[in-house]
Amino acid sequence: MATVLVVEDDEFVRSAIIHELDRRQHAVRSAGCALDALREISQRPPDAVILDLGLPDLDGSEALRMVRGISDVPVIVATARDDEAEIVRLLRAGADDYLVKPFSGDHLSARLDAVLRRARSAPAPQTLRVGGLVVDVGRREAALDGGALSLTRREFDLLAYLAARADRVVTRKELLAEVWRLSYGDDQTIDVHLSWLRRKLGESASRPRYLHTVRGVGVMLSAPR
Ligand code: CA
Repeated sequence: MATVLVVEDDEFVRSAIIHELDRRQHAVRSAGCALDALREISQRPPDAVILDLGLPDLDGSEALRMVRGISDVPVIVATARDDEAEIVRLLRAGADDYLVKPFSGDHLSARLDAVLRRARSAPAPQTLRVGGLVVDVGRREAALDGGALSLTRREFDLLAYLAARADRVVTRKELLAEVWRLSYGDDQTIDVHLSWLRRKLGESASRPRYLHTVRGVGVMLSAPR
């Protein structure tokens, strides 16, 4: 069983695909346009995406490029045209597989199982270690001195971002852009999350162990000496 996001504007096709996936015990979500799909993928990452290339808001290859900008989720593109050059281009642009419409439920299911199998057997993304802190980026788990940390999604993203840049000062502006994906915003948002993260790491701003504030610049994660 997997969570599959079906991106298709044609209601008839969409419900047919949903029905097929549902019958095979997958958890299915759907979106009718590329922007809704991007929101879904960033907020509740699915295990795989079936992406129709003829969407009302974005051209298929543009939609694929934007999905790849935010996620490595397996994507099967569904196209009405059996155009080899186009399909090769999409595979090169990051699609994992393709289906030419109309396709059967069995065909869809076989392709989906294959991309899921490949994704699951892929080597796990790196594990970051800073002193007694271990951040497993793939499983989104973190532990300190062997004890699991219970972090919110944002706290985890923040910790992982800093751990990947250990011993380097990261500016608030960079955190805002890379962790919050905002081009501008309030430093307080970051400070609040940093203070929550500090508490979970069992330290405080006045007695830091891992998280060091560099006044006026940003923050640095480094192992206690
Ligand atoms: Ca369409």
